[in-house]
Amino acid sequence: MSKLIVISAPSGTGKTTLCDRLLKDTPELLLSVSMTTRAPRGAEKNGVHYFFVDHAEFKRRIADDGFAEWAEVHGNFYGTTREFVAKAFDEGKSLLLDIDVQGAAQLKTHYPVETVRIFLEPPSMAELERRLRARGTDSEETIAKRLKAAEKEMSEKTRFDHVVVNDSLDHAYLQLSGIVLHAIRGVKVATK
Ligand code: ADP
Ligand code: 5GP
Repeated sequence: MSKLIVISAPSGTGKTTLCDRLLKDTPELLLSVSMTTRAPRGAEKNGVHYFFVDHAEFKRRIADDGFAEWAEVHGNFYGTTREFVAKAFDEGKSLLLDIDVQGAAQLKTHYPVETVRIFLEPPSMAELERRLRARGTDSEETIAKRLKAAEKEMSEKTRFDHVVVNDSLDHAYLQLSGIVLHAIRGVKVATK
């Protein structure tokens, strides 16, 4: 059955690593492309990373009830269009969504049966800090900001249907794929 799989994690936990593997292994799972008013960054392409629109277009779509969920995050608007969800479902696909907690709550309201919310947790704050540094993509200032944000994000994990601790990558992947495959294929997979 088509599902909406929302995966959230504090930055540096390993979400990209685990989601890349999940998408590669699961042909019926597609990455959702959101619409946003923020400007493209670096090599981001319209229709691939986001659908980039201006404020007027985004507001018009809100008025037309065109979003499955939307939220204002860091001063920009982001949303999942109903059109994108409907197209995936028509094709018998499920979506993997990278959306914030407010958006995930709205999705659960609009699609209660289809929405599965998974929170990925780092084994500890010390390990999260180590991974952020080891990744080598963020300045000290950004790392400090991400660690502060992580504490708030961790306090919201009770709002999710499942919590997976990304301790060992293989163990976390087994648990994560078990939850996802059970949701979309209805099969129970051993996770230990
Ligand atoms: P996110 O997308 O959540 O910000 P990344 O997937 O970029 O996180 O992972 C952050 C860093 O941690 C990367 O360098 C990645 O290789 C590493 N990493 C991911 N999972 C694990 C794990 N289970 N154990 C150790 N390192 C990990
Ligand atoms: P970024 O600008 O770094 O790509 O994304 C910033 C934040 O917006 C991330 O936390 C991401 O989860 C959130 N986000 C991206 N797309 C959507 C969306 O369609 N809906 C909601 N609610 N949040 C989104």
